[in-house]
Amino acid sequence: MRTIINNANIFDGSGQACFKGSVAIVDDRITEVTEQPITPAAGDRVVDAQGMTLMPGMCEAHAHLTWPSSVEKFVPGMHLPAEELALTAARNARILLDYGFTSAYSAGALSKKLEIYLKEQLDSGGMPGPRLIPSSVEREPPNDSELDPGQVEEHQRGPEGVKAFVKECADMGAKAIKFLISGESALKPGASHELLYSEAELMAAGEQARASDVWLTGHAHAALAVKLGVRSGFRMLYHCTYADDEAIELLASHKDDIFVAPTVGIVQATLDATPPPHFDMSYMKEDAAQVLEYQKRLVPKLRERGVRLLPGGDYGFPFNPNGRNAWDLELWVEHFGYTPAEVLHAATALGGQLMGMGDELGLIKAGYLADLLLVAGDPTEDVRILQDKHNLKAIIQNGQFYKAPDGLVATA
Ligand SMILES: [Zn+2]
Repeated sequence: MRTIINNANIFDGSGQACFKGSVAIVDDRITEVTEQPITPAAGDRVVDAQGMTLMPGMCEAHAHLTWPSSVEKFVPGMHLPAEELALTAARNARILLDYGFTSAYSAGALSKKLEIYLKEQLDSGGMPGPRLIPSSVEREPPNDSELDPGQVEEHQRGPEGVKAFVKECADMGAKAIKFLISGESALKPGASHELLYSEAELMAAGEQARASDVWLTGHAHAALAVKLGVRSGFRMLYHCTYADDEAIELLASHKDDIFVAPTVGIVQATLDATPPPHFDMSYMKEDAAQVLEYQKRLVPKLRERGVRLLPGGDYGFPFNPNGRNAWDLELWVEHFGYTPAEVLHAATALGGQLMGMGDELGLIKAGYLADLLLVAGDPTEDVRILQDKHNLKAIIQNGQFYKAPDGLVATA
């Protein structure tokens, strides 16, 4: 049985302008994309899109499914009992899919194995959620901040300790292993400029990642953190705030092997937050204002040089909940000079590449996996409409309706 979607405004993910057209899906794949209506055969399921926009599902490039807060449930703080954390992560996975994120690349978890178990449940059709590149705990040296999600076992310092950590994560089934290459000034003033790992440790991490066939993900604000991340083979670098000219050129010369996500969502959320009186966010806010100014200058430079930049904003904190992920797109338009179509290309086509599936995910193209959204309105005109899940009239994942469009489906 085919599923045919006729009369759609198609944004195919390439960044080109939308066109009026139709799509056919068989099993989990798109089999046809055409500007003509497709004539259904007996038994085909037919959707009349009525001019709504059909686009690829989005990818969250900095996902924290185990960060507890969501648009549905506020959690003060970061710590939950293990059982509640597991259920919360499953709920957050469902929330991301509800909001149009059919893929998620994890930027670290609050549990060693939870995302690996979660991925098994998602992949076996046991519960709704995005395709997931799972991670383990973020690796950083001990730190006493209230919002600090990192954990590390004390004995694992030095190149051999770092290698052992990467191997352990890989053997458990994690795919993206997260390191805080630099510190984080939002948690400890000045820490963004500190390097938390030695060059020898980072090189050892890179060596083990290649041997274990896993990817390294780095939290890197300082210029040196960015440079060492590139040189040691990290595949994803977050923030890159203080990248200097040398770091920018280094990123550019590795543009086919690397992704950058500035994570502007958490920055703007910090600036906007109105915390209760006992929680002093003043230095976090000062830091966020500075980070935003640097990133507004940095992002256009990286983009000009062809570096692949992705939205993804560290959602899951109490003041930046899971489910608000599509807000990042609006912020890219506001702060980074992207058009809606340009940031949608980053969230879809580049998302497919980040997932390691660039030849089959992230575009509306024959042969590609059918992860699709049918959107009331045109997000290439106003990207903010993606923030309201009621505008997502259909959500298709692997060719199946997770959310079917009310009253628009008929059988030929
Ligand atoms: Zn994060």
